[in-house]
Amino acid sequence: MDKPRLSCPRCYSQSRQTRDGRTPAGSQRYRCAACGCRYTPFPREQGYAEDLRFQALQLYLEGNSMREVARLLNVNHQSVANWMKDYARYLPPDLPPDIAELARLEGLFVL
Ligand SMILES: [Zn+2]
Repeated sequence: MDKPRLSCPRCYSQSRQTRDGRTPAGSQRYRCAACGCRYTPFPREQGYAEDLRFQALQLYLEGNSMREVARLLNVNHQSVANWMKDYARYLPPDLPPDIAELARLEGLFVL
């Protein structure tokens, strides 16, 4: 994903917009060095706890399809797909080969 060109919602400065942790929903927060305001430019879908998302990842890596994971956890199928893509982005490069291979086969990695 390309780095978005962020501008502060308060002072509209585009320089020195730095990362500032994450929201409980997992969205990247930013802080404007010019005025000090904190904001979340791309809020993620709210309402799903981190442990539910991790549970989805585990079920998926155990061999369930995304649709099965969605049904098991009673969440939207598209949400599960989004979560898996998010996780794939943060997964370390030295994954165990079977997991890496599975993720690659599912198209989660662009290698
Ligand atoms: Zn600002």
